Amino acid sequence: MSDVAQISGLVQAMREAQRDWAAQPIEARARLLARVGQRLADRGEELARVVCEETRKAPTDAWFADVVGNAELFSWWTGPGLAAIREQKAPISALKMPGKKATLRYEPKGVIGLITPWNYPAAIPLRTLIPALVAGNAVLFKPSEVTPRTGDLIVEAFQAELPGGLLTVVHGRQEAGEAVIDHADHVVFTGSVATGRKVAVQCAEQLKTVSLELGGKDAAIVLDDCDLDRTVQGVLWGAMANSGQNCASVERVYVQGGIHKRFVEAMVAAAGKITVAPVATDAQDAIVRRHLDDATARGAKLHGTYPGPVILTDVPDDALVMTEETFGPLCPIVSVADSREAIRKANASRYGLTTSLWTQDIPRARTLASQAQTGVVTINNVSFTGAMPFAPWSGRRESGHGVTNSHLAIMEMVQPKFVLFDDAKAPEAWWFPFSDQAVALARQSLAWLTASGLSKVGKTFGLLGMQKKRIAEQKKTMGSGK
Ligand code: NAD
Repeated sequence: MSDVAQISGLVQAMREAQRDWAAQPIEARARLLARVGQRLADRGEELARVVCEETRKAPTDAWFADVVGNAELFSWWTGPGLAAIREQKAPISALKMPGKKATLRYEPKGVIGLITPWNYPAAIPLRTLIPALVAGNAVLFKPSEVTPRTGDLIVEAFQAELPGGLLTVVHGRQEAGEAVIDHADHVVFTGSVATGRKVAVQCAEQLKTVSLELGGKDAAIVLDDCDLDRTVQGVLWGAMANSGQNCASVERVYVQGGIHKRFVEAMVAAAGKITVAPVATDAQDAIVRRHLDDATARGAKLHGTYPGPVILTDVPDDALVMTEETFGPLCPIVSVADSREAIRKANASRYGLTTSLWTQDIPRARTLASQAQTGVVTINNVSFTGAMPFAPWSGRRESGHGVTNSHLAIMEMVQPKFVLFDDAKAPEAWWFPFSDQAVALARQSLAWLTASGLSKVGKTFGLLGMQKKRIAEQKKTMGSGK
């Protein structure tokens, strides 16, 4: 553990450690990280317990979301996921560019600043820690102030296997987050829109790249032809898992008129059979109560009593519970005429993280999926793709920008370097002297590049002849005379 005052000194050491780490072959880095994965798996019971103690979440939530999924993150990023950052040969044509070879390398950015929330205190940091480190970076990690022990437990597993200085944890609130940004080369932030905005400003002032995974107000669209049983269970889980404290929680349900009544009855009955853990913090509890009070004042009907799960009906579109992220066990259900109205209302939000579609009409679902203005769409399922390491997780609008998981996420933590080798002896056609012959060769090159078939063959001979003449001209005019 480190505090803010120590960061400068620590980052100095981190940068040295990072240079050695980046110089190691990618396979060597992956091997060590695979061992970290085993260590964390061995401490699965302890991890689940600490996560539950710090967040008040139910053990089922902690086990599935914060423990089991980690194994796949490690196996992906120490195996198939590495393909994204392996060195590549450039596709250079020998005729067009004689003597040239090039490679595209991906170099680590350096120190990645990682700032995370409390709702999935193991799964969320790991989604970035593993690809960041395997790509050759060091990481300055600030877990949420609500979940410091989970942060420490994860970091211990890495520090037990990795060279010293590569991963440093910093605890604290806002000032610690700001210090992390000050010392990082790239920032990965997951948290609320309000904080994300401040992080973006600080990064912009320092011209630092940043990935922002922010809040959501995700909609489920339930159509008349859905499989009612599966849909009710899926939507209920989507709304109430982790007591609704998931950025991709179902926070609005738009149900087609023909099934609305049956769907509401089934949801209310199903909600009556479950209990949810209390939300993690008093501040979160206050937000949920504010949304409930606002909905009630606007005439909404509540089925169930908070802090238990609550289904809401007769909720106006402009109620807080329909427009602002609630992050609690509330599930408003609204009747719509058809899928067009459903997708229009679903898209009418300043957030855009995920949409779930519940229907057996797959062609119609495909059309709706293309219309949904969110980074993830699930058909007859909800939310869980965040646990798939190969599936990009990204927001639209105020849900942020940048990507977690997949080759696109690791691309944000590296910088490309294109290296060209040339063993051509002759000068390049575009070098000096500038002349009519040079321009004629340029014209011929364009004609050759845009030709096809037999005409291309003819133009190739023409091009080779002109290249020869041009080289002779350059040698005569510019050569040393040797
Ligand atoms: P938060 O924004 O309050 O805090 C997030 C982190 O930022 C914490 O570590 C906090 O200490 C730190 N922080 C606070 N002020 C800062 C500043 N000025 N500069 C830098 N860091 C600062 O969020 P939270 O309450 O911990 O988490 C809940 C939010 O996270 C919800 O809005 C949820 O939707 C969002 N979330 C998004 C995703 C996603 O993938 N899009 C995933 C999980 C959670």
